[in-house]
Amino acid sequence: MDFVFDFIFPKFCVVCGREGAFLCRKCKKGLPAALQVCPMCTRPSIYGLTHEYCWKKLGLEGLIAIFDYKNKAVRKVVEAIKFGFNRDLAGEVLVGWELPKKLRKTILVPVPLHRWRENWRGFNQAELIGKHLGKKMALVRGLTRTRATNQQARTATRGMRAENIKGAFGLAREGEGLSGKRVILVDDVFTSGVTMRECAGTLKKAGVKQVWGLVLAR
Ligand SMILES: [Zn+2]
Ligand SMILES: [Zn+2]
Repeated sequence: MDFVFDFIFPKFCVVCGREGAFLCRKCKKGLPAALQVCPMCTRPSIYGLTHEYCWKKLGLEGLIAIFDYKNKAVRKVVEAIKFGFNRDLAGEVLVGWELPKKLRKTILVPVPLHRWRENWRGFNQAELIGKHLGKKMALVRGLTRTRATNQQARTATRGMRAENIKGAFGLAREGEGLSGKRVILVDDVFTSGVTMRECAGTLKKAGVKQVWGLVLAR
């Protein structure tokens, strides 16, 4: 069946264009790993742990970034997942990747898109990534976006970006059960980190004990 399907809808590598898979083996091998940073100050940190001096009650405990977003091929993959002509790509990218052992029993919470944007695309890429990451892990849509924000990239300075996202998230009904738990916030990309820090604050205010971040690229 797969064969027939592949014949009618052949797969092409989103990086090099070769036929056979959405991400060919060679290009997958070539995706460079991200440098791990502290999610609070975005400076290098071992294992992505939040620096002791950066730690805040309403902040993140750490961040795990998988691929290096400065790399062209990584960008192509992230874009292709975001604009999603093929849902299998997220799975292909993450084959063989595993969460650190101590985080494997944690609840995944995807960073939500605004409803308008999700409807337009038909899915949320953060949720898609989460589903492929933790097949045995619980995924809870614990957050909602309470208002639309300007596209982050178009909002110039760091201060403006933080202002733009402030109060943009709320706790979803599904998130009410997260109090006292440890969660992993999942997103596709971490750049300035304002979105993730804002989401973490919302969860912690709701009683979540520990918040880790996990992104496909940084
Ligand atoms: Zn390729
Ligand atoms: Zn730091």
